Amino acid sequence: MLVAILIFVGLALVFGLLLGYAAIRFKVEGNPVAEQIDKILPQTQCGQCTFPGCKPYAEALAKGETEVNLCIPGGNDVMLLISEITGLEPKALDESVAEPKPKETAFIDENVCIGCVLCIKACPVDAIIGATKLMHTVIQSECTGCDKCAPVCPVDCIDMRPEKVSLQNWQWPEPTPLATQYLSSNNLLSDNVVNKNLTTEKQP
Ligand code: SF4
Ligand code: SF4
Ligand code: SF4
Repeated sequence: MLVAILIFVGLALVFGLLLGYAAIRFKVEGNPVAEQIDKILPQTQCGQCTFPGCKPYAEALAKGETEVNLCIPGGNDVMLLISEITGLEPKALDESVAEPKPKETAFIDENVCIGCVLCIKACPVDAIIGATKLMHTVIQSECTGCDKCAPVCPVDCIDMRPEKVSLQNWQWPEPTPLATQYLSSNNLLSDNVVNKNLTTEKQP
C-alpha cells in the first residue's frame, strides 16, 4: 500500500514538473498592444462592435484592421483611449453599428430545441449550456444580450427578451440630449455623461 502511494506521489511530481516545464518552454506570448486595449474595453462581450467580444475587437485594433469608434458601450472615452494606444486618428462613435437599446437576454424554447449546439458555438461568453441532441438553456446571469445565438438557430427557438428590472439592475434614466446640453452648459454633469449622451443624439 505504502509503495503504491509513493509511486503515485512520484508520478504526480514527475508530471507536475513536466507540465511546468512545458508551460514555460512553449508559452505563447500574446500581443501586448491587444492586451492593453482589451483592459480598457467594457468587457460586456455584447458584440455591438461586430466582433464576437472585446478581445477579438482588441486584437483587430492591434493589427490595424478595424476602426477605433466601434465600441458603443465604451463611449467617447474608450474611443479616445484606443486612439491613444494605437496611434490611430480619433473618430466620432459609429452609431450605424448599433443603436443603444434596453438590455435583453436570450431565452430558448426548450420544447422546440433540437440540440444542434449551433448556439453554443456562437455564444462568445459561454452563456448557453446543453449537449448534442439534448435541449439547451441560457444562463441568464451570463448572457450579455449580444444576439449572436438567435440568428444561427435552425428551428428559430431563441427569443431575445428585455431584461427584467430588479433592485440589482435598476438605474436612473439618463438625461435626454437637450437636458444634457443644458446641464453641461451649467457644469452640472461629468464629462462621461456629456460625451455619452451627445454622441448618441440622433441627427435630424
Ligand atoms: S462593443 Fe461590446 S463586445 Fe465590442 S468591445 Fe465594446 S463592450 Fe466589447
Ligand atoms: S446566450 Fe446568446 S445573446 Fe446571450 S451572450 Fe450568448 S450569444 Fe449572446
Ligand atoms: S441553435 Fe436552436 S436548436 Fe440548436 S441547440 Fe441552440 S437553441 Fe437548440
